[in-house]
Amino acid sequence: MNLKFCIIFSFLLRNVIARGGDRGNPLSSASDLGSPNHGSVGSARQLFEDNQSRHSRTDIARGYMTNSELEKAMKEFGRRCSHISRIYSIGKSVQGFPLLVIEISDKPGKEEPEPAFKFVGNVHGDEPVGRELLILLANWICDNYMRDPLVDLIVDKVHLHILPSMNPDGFSLKRRDNANNIDLNRDFPDQFFHWNDDEDARQPETKAIMRWLREIHFTASASLHGGALVANYPWDGSLDKRKNYYACPDDGTFRFLASIYSKSHHNMSLSKEFEGGITNGAAWYPVYGGMQDWNYIHGGCFELTLEISDNKWPNAKELPTIWEHNKMSMLNLVASLVKTGVHGRVFSSDRGRPLPGSITIKEINYTVQTGRAFSDYHRLLVPGERYEVMANVPGYKSKTTSIWFKEEAVNVDFILDPEATSEGTLQRSICDCDCSGKRRFLSMGYFWGIHSEVYLVLIVVLAFLCLLLRRRIKFNLLKHRQSPKRSVPV
Ligand SMILES: [Zn+2]
Repeated sequence: MNLKFCIIFSFLLRNVIARGGDRGNPLSSASDLGSPNHGSVGSARQLFEDNQSRHSRTDIARGYMTNSELEKAMKEFGRRCSHISRIYSIGKSVQGFPLLVIEISDKPGKEEPEPAFKFVGNVHGDEPVGRELLILLANWICDNYMRDPLVDLIVDKVHLHILPSMNPDGFSLKRRDNANNIDLNRDFPDQFFHWNDDEDARQPETKAIMRWLREIHFTASASLHGGALVANYPWDGSLDKRKNYYACPDDGTFRFLASIYSKSHHNMSLSKEFEGGITNGAAWYPVYGGMQDWNYIHGGCFELTLEISDNKWPNAKELPTIWEHNKMSMLNLVASLVKTGVHGRVFSSDRGRPLPGSITIKEINYTVQTGRAFSDYHRLLVPGERYEVMANVPGYKSKTTSIWFKEEAVNVDFILDPEATSEGTLQRSICDCDCSGKRRFLSMGYFWGIHSEVYLVLIVVLAFLCLLLRRRIKFNLLKHRQSPKRSVPV
């Protein structure tokens, strides 16, 4: 009797965990707060793994690429599609497996005033559907470039970065955590609880993602998970640790982005569990130390957590169908970076050079930084509304403009004036502050530039006076020469 009960309980628990999917186990969300990494799914997951181990572990992986096959597939893609892609590594896993990324763009590896998007798959080792779909996505884009307008838009106007597997060790071990038994989606700094603020103590996979975000200015991103069918958006955590809707400053924009994914999906938006196929993370169940909130807070990157298959590890025969169900969602989400929102650059009025600064929207408590090289910005917003957009650069007067963002993306370039009009400030802006020896020369040049008209008039007047004087002297000399002649009539 007891044995039967245990089997039934185990089965029920397994299904609940499968629904919980990526971000953790809803049953353990509150109790795990003290030890987020080691106990995130606790004994419940253990039951799932024991259950799984009764079946052959190799069976579930049949038809899926091994880590070395994935690396080979990426390198083959890089050779086949070298005109619009490059392959690079952002680091290594605990067991030394390279964390390889495919960048797709018409100018891969070059900085441009364009938005960048990243897809991250296989955050959890036992959720391998994402890594398979991302390879299919890269190949589909390669095969349809110059044939499909949506693909052209992505390749020509976006830099798309794809990390198929963030957790290759977890995949090879066929478990959620990495090789150090850490849940990577609990290993990021958290806005409410500061248990893992020490960056050195983090996992190499987490550190690699954090470095990556410092190097590339991503506008938006999505991580791919399994165990449910829903597009999840910030906040993932809530201050009171309760399961309640906890809106971030860009709640409307995130709902809009999540809806792009769910509505383009075969059946995500028809979900009976999640209205419209989207959910606020904290409303589903709170997660702390997650990658999604960290991206939005510290990376200026609008990240979604996408649950793309009810079954974490479906039979590989289902992969082509799952790919078809997600294909348009993935493409439309990336394309939304240029199809919607407000975009532009910030320049100085004195020399027309790009000014690194920030963009804010009135009544939204969130700041978007401009790109370092081109001072370009890409501010995602909900269409159909009027916005007050403000550009801010230290030492320059801020400017605000009102835009009506109907449906199509709006382009607004800002040209900012130096803050003060005193000579010192102007000289500094001309000189760019750090040119010591040249400064005196430039100051003289500046002085000449301002008073040039006065000098010109003075020169003309002096020349005229000089001419008059010469004529007067000449006349006196002539008179002087003539007078003796006249004086000798005797
Ligand atoms: Zn996951």
